[in-house]
Amino acid sequence: MTTGSGQYEAQKIVNAAGAWGDEIAQLAGLPKIGLTPFRRSVARLSAPGGQAVQGWPMLFGPGERWYAKPDAGGLIVSLAEETPSPPMDAWAHDIDLAEALSRYQDYVTEPVTRPVASWAGLRTFAPDRNLVLGPAPQDDSFVWCVGQGGYGFFTAPAASQLVADTVVGNKPDYSADILAELSPSRFLD
Ligand SMILES: Cc1cc2nc3c(=O)[nH]c(=O)nc-3n(C[C@H](O)[C@H](O)[C@H](O)COP(=O)(O)OP(=O)(O)OC[C@H]3O[C@@H](n4cnc5c(N)ncnc54)[C@H](O)[C@@H]3O)c2cc1C
Repeated sequence: MTTGSGQYEAQKIVNAAGAWGDEIAQLAGLPKIGLTPFRRSVARLSAPGGQAVQGWPMLFGPGERWYAKPDAGGLIVSLAEETPSPPMDAWAHDIDLAEALSRYQDYVTEPVTRPVASWAGLRTFAPDRNLVLGPAPQDDSFVWCVGQGGYGFFTAPAASQLVADTVVGNKPDYSADILAELSPSRFLD
């Protein structure tokens, strides 16, 4: 691999490039999975009425048209949007934040003033919306670890163990059915 800081060689490469996963595969001469990054944005509000919200449940509007949940002592509010995007350093669009806060405001008594922070990121899904974990069928030295969608934090302990086992040659601690549902081989024509 040639990088800006020199050349490197390794027996295995783990492709954990998130939204850029398909681009990295193509650099390695391998076919794309067909990943789609979707932008989702979030605004953080101070805790309503200064309450201790840490133990509050996640709140959903009807049809998941918005959600709010405790974060860093306040509440994050999102439109729960899935806007397709090329791989990029995504940013929150004002219209998405405004729409999310307007929908949230319709259901709560505390007036929304100004967000204390806002951000957006890309939730990247495979065509079947399952994670893609395991060696490429065309070249087992290239190990996919992508397609976490909106669940990359929740799934990280199990997914990283599976990928680590794959790379060092240990037998993964999952049934053949589960491994098949996660395997990049499922996208072979
Ligand atoms: C608003 C929002 C809310 C979310 N909420 C949750 C949640 O509650 N729970 C949950 O589990 N998940 C949540 N997620 C999803 C979670 O953020 C992702 O699933 C997770 O970040 C994916 O991790 P990753 O390491 O695979 O990819 P990324 O976090 O995208 O990391 C990939 C990294 O690879 C780098 N990279 C790419 N190409 C190259 C290259 N050529 N050279 C070097 N570096 C490269 C990128 O810069 C990036 O840092 C949320 C996402 C968003 C946007």
